[in-house]
Amino acid sequence: MKEAFMKKIPFLLVISWYALTAQIDTSFINSLYRYYLTQSACYASLKELCYDIGHRLSGSSQAARAVKWSYYMLKNYGADSVFLQPVKVPHWIRGKKEQCRVWLNGEKTQRNLKVLALGGSAGTEGIMSLPVIRVNSFDELEKKGREEIEGKIVFYDVAFDDALISQGEAYGKAVKYRSRGASMAAKYGAKAVLIRSMTSARDDEPHTGMLNYDTAVCKTKIPAFALSYRGADSLSSWIRNNKVKKIELFSECKTLPDTLSYNVIGEIKGSQYPEKIILVGGHLDSWDVGHGAHDDGAGIVQSMEVIRAFKKLNYKPKHTIRVVCFMNEENGLRGGYAYADETQKKSWKHIAAIETDAGGFTPRGFGIDTTSGLFSKIFVYRDMLEKYLIQYLHNEGGGADIGPLEKLGVPCIGFIPDNQRYFDIHHTMADTFDKVHKRELELGGAAISALIYIIDRIVE
Ligand SMILES: [Zn+2]
Repeated sequence: MKEAFMKKIPFLLVISWYALTAQIDTSFINSLYRYYLTQSACYASLKELCYDIGHRLSGSSQAARAVKWSYYMLKNYGADSVFLQPVKVPHWIRGKKEQCRVWLNGEKTQRNLKVLALGGSAGTEGIMSLPVIRVNSFDELEKKGREEIEGKIVFYDVAFDDALISQGEAYGKAVKYRSRGASMAAKYGAKAVLIRSMTSARDDEPHTGMLNYDTAVCKTKIPAFALSYRGADSLSSWIRNNKVKKIELFSECKTLPDTLSYNVIGEIKGSQYPEKIILVGGHLDSWDVGHGAHDDGAGIVQSMEVIRAFKKLNYKPKHTIRVVCFMNEENGLRGGYAYADETQKKSWKHIAAIETDAGGFTPRGFGIDTTSGLFSKIFVYRDMLEKYLIQYLHNEGGGADIGPLEKLGVPCIGFIPDNQRYFDIHHTMADTFDKVHKRELELGGAAISALIYIIDRIVE
């Protein structure tokens, strides 16, 4: 009887069952979810960050206020210690509202298109008035060469690949035109670039985001702007029908000297292994439009809430739980590098680093890298996590801010919420508090806390 019974149960299942009962208190995970859905401060904190501080680009006075705010929040949440880690950050300012006016053949008035200068872009130094040329790839740009490009505005008419299931993948495929497009076009003598915004949303919202001048490609730094999806559609059709006479562009943005800012770090000391750290973090800075609510206010309040939740539920972690509010993810990643530098200098030992920076949407799962066998250790709990909407555990993960830690061999994990609507509002005026759904935000926070609890229990 016993033998027959054993034959029906795969060996691995028996092992995982023992692992579950031996180390994981499922009722604690239940109470974590109950706490997040009924008592957590995630949503109220996000409201405060969005409305009392607002967007907070590195180097701005709002970013400085966000540093103070998160410091006091972590103290209030009961962190055993809170400290600031100095970071020198770039200080780019947008200046007056940008303009893009398109003059069409045979028309007496111009068509105004909504634009946002890309982060880090140079200004136009007055109004720039030039013909435009449309390209749909770097290959096409190269083929046209200096002969056709010189003295013009280059319009990269490259949209998200709608056939891809993951919007993150579509972003990854198209974003090179935002980051490298200006230097690539300047190499052939272009004077400015326009890009189609990094989104699949058919609306009139331009999306900013970082551009990186590559001085190895071209020393000249030309201005760069994003058009909304609909604006790009209009321009595309006007150009293809030979209707455009010229385009006028205006922007005043510029880069000021670097400014001193901080990563904000709070922690609960581990009861058994205080020297071993489980890190969770998001980024405190945002672009200078909207509220930076999903990107990454949501990640900040989810990370901070881990401390509040564990304190309220009287959970004493074996390892140190460290919350890091990184500064300057958007336009420099200096916070991530500063943290990794100090990790090396002080020989901090991390058993895992989790990043939440993909929006406050319904949780889907985690990308977990395989360093130290972390993925297979967590994968055992897949069935148990499924009822909490964690249906996706992928053996590859990380994030921008924890990227430098990954290079030091720290096992890294990226929180994965549903991303179908993230790029509708990403880096736009529309990334505001009202776009964040209370329960979705809380479920994401609970998933992160539950994962931290599991890691704390199963890793020595
Ligand atoms: Zn972000």
